[in-house]
Amino acid sequence: MNTQTSEVRWARLRPDQLRERQERLPLVYIPYGLCEPHGHIAPFGLDTLKADYYCDQAAQRFGGVVAPTQGYHIHETGFHQPWLDEVVGNEQAYLGGMPPEPVCYHFLYQLRAFANAGFRAVIGVSGHSGGSQIDLRLVAEYFTAQIGIPVLFHSDPEFVEGQYEGDHAGKYEISQLLAIEPELIDMSLLQRGQEANSGGRLALGEDAAEATVEHGKQINEAIIEAIGKMVSQLEIPTSSPPRLSFAQTEAIWQEIKADSRAWHSDNS
Ligand SMILES: [Zn+2]
Repeated sequence: MNTQTSEVRWARLRPDQLRERQERLPLVYIPYGLCEPHGHIAPFGLDTLKADYYCDQAAQRFGGVVAPTQGYHIHETGFHQPWLDEVVGNEQAYLGGMPPEPVCYHFLYQLRAFANAGFRAVIGVSGHSGGSQIDLRLVAEYFTAQIGIPVLFHSDPEFVEGQYEGDHAGKYEISQLLAIEPELIDMSLLQRGQEANSGGRLALGEDAAEATVEHGKQINEAIIEAIGKMVSQLEIPTSSPPRLSFAQTEAIWQEIKADSRAWHSDNS
């Protein structure tokens, strides 16, 4: 029986294949993104698509399994609301945003599912930035402290801090997707936001015209390399914790909610 596969997606693995990958490395990645405007030139799911790519590449290169993608994320709260007003205005934003609480609650239950499925380390990769990752890290902190499983959660620019600066739909982000799925970007639409009845600027970055495939490849490789370094430094427990019940998970949630740091996204 052949259980060897290059497939890394939990949803696409059969039980013996999943176990085989898990026995080699009990690590699960969770991609986080959302739909939000990235100008007329790029698809709404840019943040989701790059998170998917980094997790898939990391699992293929360093081992582990990729959990089903989380495609809704924290938005429209704290500083994001005035930002949306400024860069999207009254136009339709086509946004998949949520407040921090349901996203963090959902994340806690995702972590429970991972632990109960026998994973002993979690790496979250968010294609969406702006501080929402700090709220998810609060959940990660409690889960690690109580269950003993390392949970790391970072937005993609955090992996390459000091090397590259993240942006929104500018040279950085457009380059990232150009290097992943170039057919999803249409640079001929760069001026579209200035045309009448076009739907506005839709949050296009000022320097988007400078985006290149080569620049994107450099950023993407630096991010994947940083994830690899993180994987090599994980302190993975040698055995799984006891099965976590709904009631125990609710108890952790009550503690998280009572923490004075909940929620950064509402207060920044
Ligand atoms: Zn983005």
